[in-house]
Amino acid sequence: MRLNRLSSGISFSATLALDSRAKELASSGVDVVSMAVGEPDFDAPRVAREAARVAVEGGSVRYTPVAGTPALRAAIARHLSATRGGTWTPNEVTVCHSAKHALASALACTVEPGDEVLLVLPAWNSYGEQVRIVGGVPVSVEPRSDCGPDIAALEAAVTERTRGIMVNSPSNPSGYVWTRAETEAFGAFCERHDLWILSDEIYRRLVFEGEPQVSPASLSDSLRARTMIVDGASKSYAMTGYRIGFVAAPPEVAAAVARLESQVTGCPNAISQAAYLAALAPEGPDADPLAEPPEVEAMCAEFNRRRRVIVDGLSALGLEVPWPRGAFYAFPNVASVLDERGSVGFCEDLLESESLAIVPGSVFGMDQHVRLSYATSMAKIEEALTRLGRFLETRRA
Ligand code: PMP
Ligand code: GLU
Repeated sequence: MRLNRLSSGISFSATLALDSRAKELASSGVDVVSMAVGEPDFDAPRVAREAARVAVEGGSVRYTPVAGTPALRAAIARHLSATRGGTWTPNEVTVCHSAKHALASALACTVEPGDEVLLVLPAWNSYGEQVRIVGGVPVSVEPRSDCGPDIAALEAAVTERTRGIMVNSPSNPSGYVWTRAETEAFGAFCERHDLWILSDEIYRRLVFEGEPQVSPASLSDSLRARTMIVDGASKSYAMTGYRIGFVAAPPEVAAAVARLESQVTGCPNAISQAAYLAALAPEGPDADPLAEPPEVEAMCAEFNRRRRVIVDGLSALGLEVPWPRGAFYAFPNVASVLDERGSVGFCEDLLESESLAIVPGSVFGMDQHVRLSYATSMAKIEEALTRLGRFLETRRA
């Protein structure tokens, strides 16, 4: 059969491909350390697992309303009001099959063919492909050297075809968290050029020091009116395999996403919706909206401990690391040890010689860097640093 131009032009997600490769090597007996995939190495909170079990054993796992169960949409609206400020209502929320799918659906409802969409580098590897899938043109914009947003560079990238911008704070892959002042300057930029904002806030809970994450939607009514927030259960609650997330946006956008989903997925997984509801409101719908399962705080504390070990370890190996205030990635600059094959060659050689799997910065638009996910045990982090140190010695020799 002949594939169409769209599908033959799409690349396989590099993060997922590398993870599969590392798993394949491990199952063939190689002692692989994988810091490739960004996936919490914790179990879902007990309350979420219990809710999933009850949903299944209750026997009536059926289609739910397309936009999600009323209880889950109400819980998400309450959670948004408590964490992003203002008052959110369920008609601004459409539950989706994962945050990844929520991003794709939000783009499908806003991008016209030929629209330019700005991506702030380093940008998660799926953004560019998702924009292309719906006929848009991704336009990458370099950050400052600390991986913070460079408003002057964004200004310079705007053309008469620019319609929107995708942002991700805390960032995958750099861990950079935008300050309130940066978000305000960014908001003013979007107002000036009348851009919509797709704000991927999947790592919101994972900020380890300093100011918390600030959503552009929380800054003013007019910014909220141009912002689509995407979030989900994968990172905050270690529920990656449940595949559940949402879009929160002005009601007409949330409704458009639901219309699209009604034809594409039918509804999000009912079991996962029950589990996500329990994670978001572990003490029930009338309790403190900021209440969370106890495992979350413990997981964040452990990520924070690992973050310090990995950043110190990489610095001791002579690498510059943009300071990661959030998420669970370190994104060191390896420019001084790259050959002509760039970060891809670096990661291939590292996997080959030291069985250490990490992700080339090129897939995030920054070839001078590599990404290490520290969502893995402290023992593996220490072993990874030893292997990377040995590898750097050979590259520097
Ligand atoms: N955005 C970013 C930046 C991510 O790292 C991820 C993790 N894969 C997602 C969105 C999607 O999360 P999920 O599809 O697991 O909900
Ligand atoms: N967010 C993770 C990562 O960046 C999951 C993999 C993916 O969905 O691409 O590694």
